Amino acid sequence: LNYQTARFMTSAPTLGQCPADQGREVAFAGRSNAGKSSAINTLSRQKALARTSRTPGRTQLINFFSLAGDEACRLVDLPGYGYAKVPEAVKREWQRHLADYLQRRGSLQGVVLLMDVRHPLSEFDEMMLGWADEQDMPVHILLTKADKLKPGAAKSALAKVRSQLREWEDLVSIQLFSSLKRQGLETLEARLDAWLLDTAEA
Ligand code: GDP
Repeated sequence: LNYQTARFMTSAPTLGQCPADQGREVAFAGRSNAGKSSAINTLSRQKALARTSRTPGRTQLINFFSLAGDEACRLVDLPGYGYAKVPEAVKREWQRHLADYLQRRGSLQGVVLLMDVRHPLSEFDEMMLGWADEQDMPVHILLTKADKLKPGAAKSALAKVRSQLREWEDLVSIQLFSSLKRQGLETLEARLDAWLLDTAEA
């Protein structure tokens, strides 16, 4: 798929307001500041498709992007999670929406879960993995900002997360990623192709 063709479709505050649950979609999730907007912009070769967070945690909307002019083929930007200044009640509300979305969205093929390579497996990440596991939903983990570590340190961070998630290896794949260096883009695209294209060869 040509991810450059990604175009904003719509924003939904709740699951009930999402576009029709048809076709295929892949969702991007992560703690605020994990580098999710940057990754979506890097993937789509667009500077501002997903807004990078000047005020982290502000966007609470689920954003939908179509690919190749086909609204049945979508990328979904889930609300960033876990910014400290957000009240507890609001956090719980987000959790409920996220859980709802993961549990009920039939067109969802997989989740790209972004974690800062220097701070992987936060409480939020564990929660997402738990929900995904309950649904047998595949998860592809991007260890982001890999450029912040020396190559050797990034490699060992990857190996460590892999071993920590060994019990989930059937459902979970993991890679290093850097928007700054455009590192890991081909691997990410191959995973997305496999989820979004309706063919076995991808
Ligand atoms: P979001 O809240 O998950 O959408 O995160 P953003 O994409 O807004 O990124 C959060 C911060 O991390 C911003 O200051 C970005 O410039 C920075 N950032 C994102 N990706 C990278 C990367 O690959 N390398 C480096 N060094 N910084 C990054």
